Amino acid sequence: MNSRLDFICPPPKQNVLKKLLEAKKCFKLICGAGNENLEEVEKLVALYAKAGCRFFDLCASEEVLKSAQKGLDFAIPKVEQKDYHFCVSIGTENDPHFNKVTINQKDCKRCEKCIKICPQNAISQYFKVIEKNCIGCLKCQKVCKHDAILTVRLNPHPTNSLLFTLHSSLSCIELHVCDKTDADEKWDYLCENFNGILSICLGRGKFSNEQVLSLVRRLIEKREPYTTIIQADGSPMSGGEDDFNTTLQAVAMAELIQSANLPVYLTLSGGTNSKTAQLAKLCGVDFHGVAVGSYARKIVKEYIEREDFWTNKAIFEDASKIAANLIQSTFTPTSISIHH
Ligand code: SF4
Ligand code: SF4
Repeated sequence: MNSRLDFICPPPKQNVLKKLLEAKKCFKLICGAGNENLEEVEKLVALYAKAGCRFFDLCASEEVLKSAQKGLDFAIPKVEQKDYHFCVSIGTENDPHFNKVTINQKDCKRCEKCIKICPQNAISQYFKVIEKNCIGCLKCQKVCKHDAILTVRLNPHPTNSLLFTLHSSLSCIELHVCDKTDADEKWDYLCENFNGILSICLGRGKFSNEQVLSLVRRLIEKREPYTTIIQADGSPMSGGEDDFNTTLQAVAMAELIQSANLPVYLTLSGGTNSKTAQLAKLCGVDFHGVAVGSYARKIVKEYIEREDFWTNKAIFEDASKIAANLIQSTFTPTSISIHH
């Protein structure tokens, strides 16, 4: 990771993304750092673009970006696409977003618990993991009583040549930081090579409040003001439910980052849902955007899986209304009442 490559993000693209963040209406759809299901990505991007999403977080793969572009082409005329942005992620060494799983057939008792809980339909009826669908959420591992599900680490750093190939389609590159192992080295690499917006998806991991803030301050020192997004990551890949509890940690993390008063854009992720903005406002967190993954995918899953998804206009419209409601909920939180 030493050679300088100068990934030049077209400046107009960068400025459009900044405007979106400054308007505090930056909803980002997280397709999944490890989600290589091309059909799902294409459908999700088409649907959420139509519903008003302009920022998409994708697996760093040429094929995935091509599928995302196809989805965007379906929903949005070419002349308007400068307002839409793709982002890919790089992980630090232990980042959970770069896991996949495999099933040890000798230990598997065929109880089907993993199949039922998997949000990605990534486990076949023959108890084999469909790798391209697996996003490494480890929900299956938690329900397996027989320790039959093993974690497989992906390489969290796309190669220089892959980033070089992808960079012209990107407005943003994100570094997932969950510990200190190699965060500084990777951040330096991105700062030196990519001139678009950079994002730090910051999970608490084993950090104390002081450690989180000192790490952020150190990383931000290398950046011009307002060229960085800090994405406060609550509990990574814990989403799926639409309640306050799931999104609590993301809001707490955002509140901590906000207290440092840095010249950055602040967004929330990890367990985010339609309640995130309400809770954040209630806690006095002033954010620029919300990134939603599991919950955003879950609410349109039944539509995405339909064979007539591309041809049945009514189905597409219905699904995009559901997506639009979620996006809207992250812009204009209504007042919240808590009953005891
Ligand atoms: S939960 Fe474990 S034992 Fe049950 S089917 Fe899945 S891998 Fe096999
Ligand atoms: S539950 Fe999560 S980790 Fe397990 S197979 Fe499905 S997507 Fe992969």
